[in-house]
Amino acid sequence: MARILIGLILGLALAVPAAAQPPASALFGAQKTASNQPPAAIGTYAKGCAAGLVQLPESGPTWQAMRLSRNRNWGHPETIAFIRRLSAEATRFGWRGLYVGDISQPRGGPMTSGHASHQIGLDVDIWMLPPARLNLSRAERESISSISVRSEDQRRVNGNFTRSHAAILRAAAMDRSVDRIFVTPPVKIEMCRQATRADRAWLQKIRPLYGHNTHFHVRLKCPPGERSCETQRPTVADLSGGGDGCDETLTWWVTDYLDPPKTRPGKKPDPAPKKSHPRDYTMADLPAQCRNVLAAN
Ligand SMILES: [Zn+2]
Repeated sequence: MARILIGLILGLALAVPAAAQPPASALFGAQKTASNQPPAAIGTYAKGCAAGLVQLPESGPTWQAMRLSRNRNWGHPETIAFIRRLSAEATRFGWRGLYVGDISQPRGGPMTSGHASHQIGLDVDIWMLPPARLNLSRAERESISSISVRSEDQRRVNGNFTRSHAAILRAAAMDRSVDRIFVTPPVKIEMCRQATRADRAWLQKIRPLYGHNTHFHVRLKCPPGERSCETQRPTVADLSGGGDGCDETLTWWVTDYLDPPKTRPGKKPDPAPKKSHPRDYTMADLPAQCRNVLAAN
């Protein structure tokens, strides 16, 4: 027993220290193509990777992928199917389709810049800018910017937010594959106001979050039968107490969040504990299967 222990301690001491390990974000960021494996979302949205992803075609009948230089237009086949569905539906509400922002890297995983999530091929950012045309060149897709639908003071939507935005968001929320959608809080407030009494169950999936004023972020559920994929907790039903989420937790975003109540003089708030950012994760932080995803052809 003692010898086993000593061996274990020696082994640990000889192991490469964590600081010398390359960040997983550098390894996944260097991947140019998907892994030649069956599709699988592995781990959680903010700590995982993905096998067998599919590239969203750069342009389709009702969408264009933006910022192609980032090579983040790779998603789980379920995500690609969802984008095709929602972009086609957007044409019913007067839009030509959708401008699609980041999905995931070719093999998912943490990124060296930007998002904490988008790691398992099930998150997609969709621009608030209604497409003027769907034949943008590569260069135009790098230079064009989206628009903000939020007022300068961050308390309400501005004139850029239209009925079409609300209709597209509702359609996305009603899609059975969707787990939740992140929007700037004023968008949810406006949608709570517009929704009729009989038609608001879907509002539960619209979740307020800082940022998300120039795009909305759709998160799909773990695809059926994928046991390596970890469903997000708490669920949207938990978060909204089974209701529509049009409550004081929503109002908080445009009150106390923007104007934090003053703390008593002399008493400093405790500093938040430092959490490591996904871009600093090493392979040891990710599910073991992610090594196979990196190594696969
Ligand atoms: Zn996002």
